[in-house]
Amino acid sequence: MDILPFGEWEINREEIILLQELGSGQFGTVQLGRWKQKYDVAVKMIKEGTMSTEDFLEEAETMMKLKHPKLVQLHGMCTIEYPIYIVTEYMSNGSLLSYLNSHGKQLNQQQLLEMSCDVTEAMVYLEDLQFIHRDLAARNCLVDKTLIVKVCDFGMARYVLDDQYTSSTGAKFLVKWSSPEIFSYSKFNSKSDVWAFGVLMWEVFTLGKMPHERFDNTELLKKIMSGYRLYRPRLSSDEIFHIMSSCWKEASTTSG
Ligand code: ADP
Ligand code: MG
Repeated sequence: MDILPFGEWEINREEIILLQELGSGQFGTVQLGRWKQKYDVAVKMIKEGTMSTEDFLEEAETMMKLKHPKLVQLHGMCTIEYPIYIVTEYMSNGSLLSYLNSHGKQLNQQQLLEMSCDVTEAMVYLEDLQFIHRDLAARNCLVDKTLIVKVCDFGMARYVLDDQYTSSTGAKFLVKWSSPEIFSYSKFNSKSDVWAFGVLMWEVFTLGKMPHERFDNTELLKKIMSGYRLYRPRLSSDEIFHIMSSCWKEASTTSG
């Protein structure tokens, strides 16, 4: 495919033809689109009331500048009418979580490691720019046709209008990917992304299992505070497990 031209972030929605629904998430449905009759793109159609759009648009310029081969590229937005469209790179193999669930058994350990490395590269880039992802998990990574994994939805958790999801005491809050600092003081930093990365690696090496399957938020919180951690996945060597475990150190036991 051609390299997409670099342009301003407002995209004329008439240049996009919507082709089929790819899935749905926090902000509504995601569609496959063809832009300028040439480029395959994914279009997030933002359902009204699901996103604080003003805050998002304020940050959009910064997000447009994030460019890395392992980050799902934001191409632009259609903001003049509702629903707002967020137009991104299209990833034909869908979310990493669903890919692991459906095709994981065909992957060898080396490939699982490479997928984890793809995510690491993107996260190193974000950390260097002091950009915090806030919602890193296999469901927020996508797989392209050559099985390269790219990180998406970076920073987007800040614009979700749903207290149950954003508040650390909310029912939909994702304790399973969160470091203790987050559920204690809702403090996000690059270290909280590191914690989530460890959980993501665990998801990769379990081929997409739900972490801490048997615990609800309250139970899990207590267990994590008392030092309980995820177990070594069968497909992970001790060495690999050592890497993921090292992501789950409490702030008090590390410096900084
Ligand atoms: P949200 O972030 O709004 O919650 P997601 O980003 O999780 O929504 O998207 C929902 C689903 O749509 C994903 O699980 C995936 O199947 C599909 N999808 C999202 N973005 C893309 C993309 N860029 N390329 C291909 N499929 C996508
Ligand atoms: Mg998402």
